[in-house]
Amino acid sequence: MENLSSYTLLLISLFILIVLGGLLLLIIDKSEKVNKLRASLTKLKKSFNNLDEQAKLIVKTDLDLNKAQEELDKRLGGLDALQKISHLISTTLDENEIFTRLQDALRTTLNFEKNLILIYDEEKNLHSRVVLGFADENTPTIIADLEKDSGLIDSCQKGQTFSSINCPKPRRNYINQLLGVEHFVLAPILSQKGIIGVVFVGNRSNAAGITAGDEELISILASQIGQTLENARLFEQVFRSQQILEAKVHDRTNQLESALKEVQNISKTKSEFVSAVSHELRTPLTSIKGYASILMAGKLGNVPDQVRKRLEKINTHSDNLVKLINDLLDISRIESGRFEMKINKCNLVTMIDNIRDLLTPQMKEKGIQWAEDIDGAIPEMMLDSSQAERIFINLISNAIKFTPKNGTISVNARLNNGVVTVEVSDTGIGISDEDIARLFDEFFRVDNQINQNVKGTGLGLSLAKKIVEAHKGRMWITSKVNEGTTFHFTLPVEQSSTDNIPDGSETEPA
Ligand code: ADP
Repeated sequence: MENLSSYTLLLISLFILIVLGGLLLLIIDKSEKVNKLRASLTKLKKSFNNLDEQAKLIVKTDLDLNKAQEELDKRLGGLDALQKISHLISTTLDENEIFTRLQDALRTTLNFEKNLILIYDEEKNLHSRVVLGFADENTPTIIADLEKDSGLIDSCQKGQTFSSINCPKPRRNYINQLLGVEHFVLAPILSQKGIIGVVFVGNRSNAAGITAGDEELISILASQIGQTLENARLFEQVFRSQQILEAKVHDRTNQLESALKEVQNISKTKSEFVSAVSHELRTPLTSIKGYASILMAGKLGNVPDQVRKRLEKINTHSDNLVKLINDLLDISRIESGRFEMKINKCNLVTMIDNIRDLLTPQMKEKGIQWAEDIDGAIPEMMLDSSQAERIFINLISNAIKFTPKNGTISVNARLNNGVVTVEVSDTGIGISDEDIARLFDEFFRVDNQINQNVKGTGLGLSLAKKIVEAHKGRMWITSKVNEGTTFHFTLPVEQSSTDNIPDGSETEPA
């Protein structure tokens, strides 16, 4: 029995041992699992922490992005506003209108609480041109204080823009106090000559702050205002000079008109005087010539040779004087419009041939060649033929007189649009430019050897030109000293008989 119970006890003990062993194994197994779980948990915690960090980063980045987007939107809005303002102010050249437009644009577009645009006048004093958000009575004090701040003005002069984000504290506080703002931008308005004013914008403490974008925007706006003002002032200057010039031209025109009237009056008086004197001279001259002829004819007794020679001289000089007086009378008649032209049909070729025949003896004497080139298309012309002959006789006689032996005289005529242009050329001594300028003046004769030897009146060319003008033509000269001279003149083919008064306004072509 005792053996049985100890056997049972042994069995029980064994059983307990087995159970305990099993339990131990189970516990060991569990603790391993727990350890594993713990490790997983730590890992999980780490991952979670990582995730948390990343989430925070994402939120932060998102916030930053939103802020950047906001800033970008603001800048874009600002640039858009700037573009509109620039367009508005650059489409006018009136300085007052520029500031009116700026005032409206600042009020409606940029939305700063306080705006001030100050501009220097010619005496270098600042004046307010745009004032928004300031009481009128405060602006003179603000201007006076700003003008006193030479450091600020000097920096502006150098192109520096001040703002509540870039200003050193003392200056920031000073501007805050002076202009009653917390956030601000103050930018110089510059032209090529330097500072011409300043733009100021600002907000009080409870309103939105200033960003780098605002600073940039106001500085661009200030330079745009500078350019626009410069353009407007330049335009104003040009406009004013043009007005001054116009007024001067007007004055000068009036002066010239009255001078012309005076000259016309003097010329009329001269013509009347010449005409009166010529008439007075002609009567006694006719008597002198008459008495000389009677004496020469021997009607009052025999005339000794010595006396006859003197009488012949009296006769020749009287003839010259009669010619001079007649020329003078004709000039004054044409000038005063009292010259009566007898317009009739005439053939230019025949006229030139007749004059050539008339002057052939003089040409032969000097061995001068004659050349002629007349346009076959020239029809019969309406001219006062005896006056037209005088033009040719005068020009060709002069050509003979001033051309050395064996030279050539040529006469050309061309028809163009109902106007005949005639050229009388010679290979003579020529005329200097200085003398050409005076050649048609009455009594003008070039001071040369030929003129010293051969008598002349200096009236022939003046009369020829007047006859041409009486026919509504023009006369001018081209010449080269020692090579020759060409007299050019035009004559219209048709002539109305009432057109016999020269207007004297025709000038030579360049
Ligand atoms: P005059 O022949 O009586 O002197 P004109 O009025 O006909 O007066 O001429 C004025 C001057 O013009 C002449 O004295 C002469 O000096 C100059 N002149 C005219 N024709 C010619 C010419 N063909 N060549 C050079 N000089 C000329």
